Amino acid sequence: MPEDKTTPPRPDVRSPWVIDTRTLARRPGASREVRRDVPVDTELGVPGVVSVRKGASVELDLLLESVVEGVLVTGRAYAPTAGQCSRCLDPISDEVELDLTELFAYPASATEETTDSDEVSRLVDDLVDLEPIVRDALVLALPLVPLCAEDCAGLCSECGGKWADLEPNHGHESIDPRWAALVERFDESPADGPDGKA
Ligand SMILES: [Zn+2]
Ligand SMILES: [Zn+2]
Repeated sequence: MPEDKTTPPRPDVRSPWVIDTRTLARRPGASREVRRDVPVDTELGVPGVVSVRKGASVELDLLLESVVEGVLVTGRAYAPTAGQCSRCLDPISDEVELDLTELFAYPASATEETTDSDEVSRLVDDLVDLEPIVRDALVLALPLVPLCAEDCAGLCSECGGKWADLEPNHGHESIDPRWAALVERFDESPADGPDGKA
């Protein structure tokens, strides 16, 4: 068999994202549950907008199943998020949750031979490296426009006050400042005007 140049490097077994599937591999039908909390060492997402911060944990709740072509990983990942409401700019904290389904193909399996490693993940020495998959999926699952509440009214465009904190009848004279001086003069003029009462 020709050397496959696309074989990814061997995952680092010390990484908390890496799962050893030796007890499962090549035994179709066998399965194993894996639950673990993986610390985030690089902030994921858009800092200041919405992200999973460094030091937070990604909780993984997974089922690994041995299938003919490799090991199928399904399950969920959860992580706390922090950011800023894009309307009122209040700090927000939330949670992101996502479903995972990923096949890690055996070397020399039909799947491996007919796909690229960036299309279908590979088992390397029976090791599953969840990091790239979970990181990418988490970033995609983050909201594009984070909000403190779906109906957040945001800020008054005139004074920047938060609508939620302003009086119900809050408003501003909608007079262009360039006209304000003229209006002031006009207000003074009736006394001397043609129909002034003085
Ligand atoms: Zn808000
Ligand atoms: Zn205002």
